Amino acid sequence: MSIFEDIKENITTRQVAERYGIAINRNGMCRCPFHNDRIPSMKIDKNFYCFGCGEKGDAIDFVSKHFGLSPKDAALKICEDFGLNASTNYHAPPKYTSPPKSNEQLFREIEKHCYLVLCDYLHLLEKWKTEYAPKDENHEWHPYFCEALKEIDLIENLLDTILYGNISDRAFLITNYGRKVIDIERRMEQLR
Ligand SMILES: [Zn+2]
Repeated sequence: MSIFEDIKENITTRQVAERYGIAINRNGMCRCPFHNDRIPSMKIDKNFYCFGCGEKGDAIDFVSKHFGLSPKDAALKICEDFGLNASTNYHAPPKYTSPPKSNEQLFREIEKHCYLVLCDYLHLLEKWKTEYAPKDENHEWHPYFCEALKEIDLIENLLDTILYGNISDRAFLITNYGRKVIDIERRMEQLR
């Protein structure tokens, strides 16, 4: 087993990020160390993906970028810091209990998260559309009412894509609207 395979099987990006001092919240998100990130934009588990700058990869990629090391040196650093033997005959059992997540599982988790956030937001917009509707023609439109009119169609489309879209449409959505979902999530937390 090569050290690359050894790390891939035994160490998650989440473990290395935590080890090197990156705070990860309960949704598995952290502030991206690779761009100037004010709010957590990076989903981090076995692999990582940043909604803000698009950086992605596995634990070795993360350490390599974070410390400016070649992939080989990053792998050696992980072996050293996690007590993995960098020699070829290393067969220690995994150090964590839950199985590592594949890219596909990570994608599904991100997608599910987006879906839940967008559902919440859609419900709120529908409520605003009735509650803040202008009482008569002379009333100025309430900003919440305007937002509802402006956003409901888009949010419904995004939810339809997650539910019924093919894989490339769904991947496009995550890449292009991930940032918007994070902004919505943050705003909903403030409104609560
Ligand atoms: Zn980033």
